[in-house]
Parts: sequence; structure tokens; C-alpha cells
Amino acid sequence: MLISRRALCVSTGALALASTLSTPKIARAAGPFSQSPLPYDQNALSPVISGTTVGLHYTEHHSAYFKNLNFLVKGTQYEALRLEEVVKATAKSSGSTAKIFNNAAQAWNHNLYWEQFTPGGADRPASRVSSELELAFGGWDGFVNEALTVSDSVFGTGWIWLTRRDEGTLELIGYEDAKNPLAFGKPAYLGIDLWEHAYYLDYTNRKADHIRATLEKLVNWNVVADRMGV
Ligand code: MN
Repeated sequence: MLISRRALCVSTGALALASTLSTPKIARAAGPFSQSPLPYDQNALSPVISGTTVGLHYTEHHSAYFKNLNFLVKGTQYEALRLEEVVKATAKSSGSTAKIFNNAAQAWNHNLYWEQFTPGGADRPASRVSSELELAFGGWDGFVNEALTVSDSVFGTGWIWLTRRDEGTLELIGYEDAKNPLAFGKPAYLGIDLWEHAYYLDYTNRKADHIRATLEKLVNWNVVADRMGV
């Protein structure tokens, strides 16, 4: 009797293990892809970014990228991947796969975007990040000025990204549309959305004012430091 109970326990354990192994999609959080929750109240970034802009940007624009992505990947090889894997796998594609890249990248870009801001006003970067900015841009003012210069190099929609050169120093890069450092095998520490939906209601055509205010008053540099691993 005792032996058969033990055998039953082993058998049940094996079944539980088999059940766990047979559900890798759930364990890996693959598609359908879901939008990260907004990590603060819709009005929390005001007055730098108004609650109206955050609301529209998060619940209409960002959410639409997920909706489109889940529709486009249905029944494809990309459905079983994690979001960042979809971005990397489709980065150099064309045709219908390019649509998957555009929506996957924008879904991923905005997850990073919302996560990197802090309600109530930002502190300046702490020592490790500050010294890296000093080395790459000559200090805080040089960093902000370079961000404005790089933003001017993006003619239409796009993003500017704080990333790292292969040789190690920090770098600001402008990419058009949905492109991001992940697509080029580079780290993404900070991304500023240059699409007009990100600022036009609050700043109209004063894009530079929006970028400067966002960098000076909203960035959570602890999040950036975590992304940099410092
Ligand atoms: Mn956007």
C-alpha cells in the first residue's frame, strides 16, 4: 500500500513536470503580446507632458501597435517569440514582414519610453551615469545640445536613442520611424519619441522645447543606470 502511494506521488510529480514542460509559450510570455501597464497615473508627467497627451499616446497609439502586431503575427513563426526577439528577427525585412517589424518595434519602444520617466520631476544623473555623459558629451549641457542636434537629423517621424559605441563610449543616435538600437544589435538606454503625437498637443511645433524639458525634468536616471548596468 505504502509503495503504491509513493508510486502515485512520483507519477503525479512527473505529470506535473510534463505539464510544465509542455507550456513553454506561457512560461516565455510570448504572443499574443500585451502592452506593459502605464507605471504611473496618466497626469503624472504634467506639465512637461500633459495627461491628454499621455492618455492618447498610451491608450491609442501604443495600444494600436500591439493590436496590429497580434493581428499580423497570427499563424506565423513570430507568434511564439518574445517581443524583443520579434524585433530582432524582423529588423532587416521587407514587405509584409516589415509591417511586423514596425509594429513590434513601436510596441517595444514605447514600453521602454513609459518606464524611463519619473513623476514629480527628475534628479540629474548619479555619479556613474554622469561621468559617462561627461566623457561622451563633455557634460550635461553637451548631452542636451547633442540630443537637439541629433533630433534635427531625423527628418520625419522617429526617435533619438542613448546607446553605446562599439568602442565603449555613450552615443546619441537618431533613427527614422520605428527603428531602434535593438534592431542593430546595440543597447537602448533612453529613447525620446520624435513622432508628433508625442508632443504636438503640448508644444505644437516647438519640438526642441519638448525634448529639452523631457530630458531635464522627466527622465528617471536610475532606470537608465539599470539599463546601462552601472
Ligand atoms: Mn509614440
